[in-house]
Amino acid sequence: MIVNNSLDEVKKRENALFIIKNFVENKGRNSLFDLTGLSGGFIASSSEISLLETYVGPAIFEDELQQVGIKHMGGEKVLPLNRTSSGILATILTLVSKDSNVVHYLAELPAHPSIPRSCKLVGANYFETDNFDEFSIPNNTSLVVITGSTMDHKVIDVDEFKKIIEMAHKRNIPVMVDDASGARLRTVIFNQPKACDLGADIAITSTDKLMPGPRGGLMAGRKDLIDEIKVKVNQFGLEAQPPAVLAMLNGIKNFKEDNLINSIKRKDELYELLCQAFTNFEKTPTGVMISPEGISGEVKVSHNLSDNDLAFILSFILLKDYGVITIPAVSMPGASATIRFDLSTNDAFNLDLKDLYNQIKFSFDKLKDVVSDENAARDIIFNC
Ligand SMILES: *Cc1c(COP(=O)(O)O)cnc(C)c1O
Repeated sequence: MIVNNSLDEVKKRENALFIIKNFVENKGRNSLFDLTGLSGGFIASSSEISLLETYVGPAIFEDELQQVGIKHMGGEKVLPLNRTSSGILATILTLVSKDSNVVHYLAELPAHPSIPRSCKLVGANYFETDNFDEFSIPNNTSLVVITGSTMDHKVIDVDEFKKIIEMAHKRNIPVMVDDASGARLRTVIFNQPKACDLGADIAITSTDKLMPGPRGGLMAGRKDLIDEIKVKVNQFGLEAQPPAVLAMLNGIKNFKEDNLINSIKRKDELYELLCQAFTNFEKTPTGVMISPEGISGEVKVSHNLSDNDLAFILSFILLKDYGVITIPAVSMPGASATIRFDLSTNDAFNLDLKDLYNQIKFSFDKLKDVVSDENAARDIIFNC
């Protein structure tokens, strides 16, 4: 095993950022292709930037974000946060007491790690399932969690979504929806209603997923709950700062449903190409992906590495050799090691899909060459 724990993940991320910096300095930003689907955009005019002071910024931009954010997310009030994870933590700190139960339903495991970690922090018992028939709400449950679209973009069935909200509300238990990518994926591609319109008490989306905004979280929902959660958010410094709020506002205003819809056609084209050489690629709503197990199945060479290690190595080869950024190289600890090629963001529009196909094929060839040499593999991930 090469990547064993969170510290290893922090180290590999540092190396990935170092490689990205070298690309930008030596070949320019246009030599990179960010296919993560997380754009981290910062749209702002110079007159807006001049208002970015500690108190003036929020006075202007948070007010406008109320209208624009509610239009995007539904609900009675919105709250901008440093990250989606911050919103999940703040909600659990506010609504979940020690020894109570939290139950979570999602279309496919695993859940985002911020949910079980936050439950652990407050000493709650956490249960999760992706089997609807197994889902139940035990006594002494303080919060029901639903993930709208998983880290791998598996989208919940809308009837199951409604039934779980109904089950929770019958017992007066609040529902938090982790709608990080779902707030756009579910609504635009799957024509589902907004989480708040389905009855969610709290919904949180990530403002850099499938939209041109900054890394950040936007919470929406019931005003009474948001006000309570906002106290914790401010006490622990989890709120979004004025520059992020401005960029969130402009990111939402510049979100184009058509970009998501157009990526569907391109993804079919890429998928057909990949099927010529591989068996384990799968389609996602806006691109293609291959799981660590899937990568392992393609590498028909003997080795001692874990499936996740293979995904990290492949992600680093794509980055180093072709400037193609995928999540495993750059992600935070605990994120999914599935490699996704998202075709809905700006860099993907300029990409020839045949070129991308060849880059993926050559990267797999290199992966097969390196897996039997653990030191060489380690060097690719950590630059040691
Ligand atoms: C990305 C993601 C998160 C976390 O978002 P951060 O901005 O990294 O905190 C939470 N849940 C799901 C389902 C996600 O995809």
